[in-house]
Amino acid sequence: MYNLIDGKLVSAYIKDTVKEKTAELKAAGKEITLAVIIVGDDPASRVYVNNKKKACEYVGFRSLEYALPAETTEDELISLIEKLNNDSSVNGILCQLPVPAHINDEKVIDAISPEKDVDGFSKINVGKLWVGDYDLAACTPMGVMELLRYYNIEISGKNCVIIGRSNIVGKPMAALLLEENGTVTVCHSRTKNLAEVTSKADILVAAVGRAGFVTADMVKEGAVVIDVGINRNASGKLCGDVDFEKVKEKVSYITPVPGGCGPMTIALLMKNTLIAAEKQSNK
Ligand code: NAD
Repeated sequence: MYNLIDGKLVSAYIKDTVKEKTAELKAAGKEITLAVIIVGDDPASRVYVNNKKKACEYVGFRSLEYALPAETTEDELISLIEKLNNDSSVNGILCQLPVPAHINDEKVIDAISPEKDVDGFSKINVGKLWVGDYDLAACTPMGVMELLRYYNIEISGKNCVIIGRSNIVGKPMAALLLEENGTVTVCHSRTKNLAEVTSKADILVAAVGRAGFVTADMVKEGAVVIDVGINRNASGKLCGDVDFEKVKEKVSYITPVPGGCGPMTIALLMKNTLIAAEKQSNK
């Protein structure tokens, strides 16, 4: 019998913890501000930005939105980031990705001051993560770690296999699991005999972006399966990378999509913003 990992429940718990702490800081005269920049009018990005604003409202942060036209130049965008870096009332800055093709996203990410980089994407914060001395790491894999922690899932000494090596999910996921003494393997599009590798995983994290990619034969009996994917199946329904109905029969724990990793990402963005604000006020 499998256990369902409830991302809605755990994300609500995290947001409520952030909300409580934010109220305490507010009572002491300190307001927390997250600045969100969106360039262009990608509808998916607009949905994400609206959800981030709603979460800010819920936890009690002030949120600033900078909606820039698609023609914004890289220099203009970086000037805005520099202005926000220098504004001591702003604690966190994020630029919703993707940015239009004429803007170099790496330059934009690295323009954000590492202390305000609440997405944890900048090279400084990624480097800090890999040496095990980090405070701001990528929200989605941090959300996975919170789920594992909440359900008391042991990581130390376990075979942890990640499918996907992106900078925003796969790689930071590997660093975080390694930090907790997992034995980590990262698979990707050039991995040979993928099913052979994944079927040895005690903890399997799928971050591929393909509906139904992880089938039951790829999963070990009793494994913990974390599905980061967000896809639409043939009938347009939201689904993850894992063939949930078949895989669930084999596992000890599994995340659903929706309601698994998705809500955790925004909750961790709120937590990261609180951490950034606390660090800044302790300087
Ligand atoms: P990406 O496209 O940057 O990376 C996909 C990875 O999958 C690549 O590293 C690639 O090597 C690997 N891959 C592709 N085909 C493969 C194959 N046949 N075998 C093995 N590996 C293969 O995607 P991403 O940004 O890391 O996102 C992955 C998924 O997670 C997407 O569905 C995305 O929407 C979702 N996502 C969810 C959240 C969330 O909040 N839950 C956040 C970020 C991304």
